[in-house]
Amino acid sequence: MKRLFIQSVFVVGLLLSSIATASNFPTEEPVGGEPFGYSTTNIGDGLYVFRWWVYRNIFLVTDEGVIVTDPMNPKVANKLLGEIRKITDKPIKYVIYSHNHHDHISGGKVFKDQGATFIGHKNVLKELGDHPSAATPLPDITFEDEYTVQLGGRTIELKYFGPNHGESLVVMRLPKEKILFIVDIVTPRRVAFRAMPDFWPDEWIRSLKEIEKLDFDYVISAHGPENQPAIDPASVVEDQRIYLEDLMTAVKKAMDSGTHNPDVLRKTVKLPKYKDWQYYNEWLPMNIERIWAYYHMGW
Ligand SMILES: [Zn+2]
Repeated sequence: MKRLFIQSVFVVGLLLSSIATASNFPTEEPVGGEPFGYSTTNIGDGLYVFRWWVYRNIFLVTDEGVIVTDPMNPKVANKLLGEIRKITDKPIKYVIYSHNHHDHISGGKVFKDQGATFIGHKNVLKELGDHPSAATPLPDITFEDEYTVQLGGRTIELKYFGPNHGESLVVMRLPKEKILFIVDIVTPRRVAFRAMPDFWPDEWIRSLKEIEKLDFDYVISAHGPENQPAIDPASVVEDQRIYLEDLMTAVKKAMDSGTHNPDVLRKTVKLPKYKDWQYYNEWLPMNIERIWAYYHMGW
């Protein structure tokens, strides 16, 4: 009996180790591949916003080929390629990664197979290199602070503002069109995402202040359901920064006046100015706990 038990433990151990190998991080289906709807919006002059579920990216069709950003995930990348092929048969020349998070970029292989050159911040190379996966091809071109992609007379500038959401996030600017494509650190009319995973609150605010100084009139953001506009006025960057400042001020004020229990803070700190923003009721308590952790732990 004892021997059988030992054998069972051994078999279970083998099973667990094979499961660990099979689910080798990062997952190739980070969002489960659920069949949410998708759409493509023509912004004008070859610029398109592709939306799947609440995720968005941009692609730019030029005379010499196509520049794609954030290839989302394997199933959706095929849909994205199909949408591009309805518009042009020009080659996919570049894929630009906004940052390293797999929920935005794990569909890259579809475009690698098309011969695209991948571009990302140098920290993306390290982060993806630490967890290699066929789903997320490593960038072929990396850079430190700025990089300019030019194709068919069109330009996309990539700008790095240091750590804010992870350590590899770049903001994309179309200088002629005065449009920014901003992923994750600007989500118009929505409170911050859940418990703000991989967000550094103080660095996030600092980055937004620096972004506000850029020359731009419009913002395309990477999150929003179907009923949200594909493009917003520049003011959404300032709105986002003021939300974060209001959130941090409110939590700090409550802590300074003696409330240090995060469960109490979650229930008592309110920001009625933002009651109409998406997920105010559901996510504000999680935002509050993240800011509590920032002041409580210095992180
Ligand atoms: Zn992210």
